[in-house]
Amino acid sequence: MRAMLGLAVSPLQLGIAAVGGYVVVLWVATAFFVWRDARRRSSSLLFQAFALLLGFVPPFLGALVYLVVRPPRTLDEERAFALEEQSLLDVDRDAIPVRPCPSCGKEIEAEFIVCPHCRTQFARRCHSCDRVLRLGWAVCPYCAEEVGHAPLGRATRAG
Ligand SMILES: [Zn+2]
Ligand SMILES: [Zn+2]
Repeated sequence: MRAMLGLAVSPLQLGIAAVGGYVVVLWVATAFFVWRDARRRSSSLLFQAFALLLGFVPPFLGALVYLVVRPPRTLDEERAFALEEQSLLDVDRDAIPVRPCPSCGKEIEAEFIVCPHCRTQFARRCHSCDRVLRLGWAVCPYCAEEVGHAPLGRATRAG
């Protein structure tokens, strides 16, 4: 290098070389940052190569463009998001237990005391504590209220 010789190199040339070197280092670092960020956001090699290219060309501006077009979430965030969504779905499904109607077989909520499809009554509510009782029970097992044998309504199917 001519700079090593210390001859024929003006301070101006030295300054330009320093600034140029600084810009080049910044340029490469920007591309590296873009490429690393792309790896966190996509497992697609094609996208990673595209991001690397964008990190280099056009210099610096490509990194800005990348920030606009990159996937909004990293793969880790994506995974966490999917897990959270899945657990919410699970809770939703657990919240309303369903079972087939013993008479018509259509799906009804487990808490139902009358099937809304075929109008069969298979349970009733305790008039004291409001919990679901089988038709055959004479006393409420939850609050010991006497509920009598006579089933409410017209059905007598309960086993
Ligand atoms: Zn039914
Ligand atoms: Zn009761």
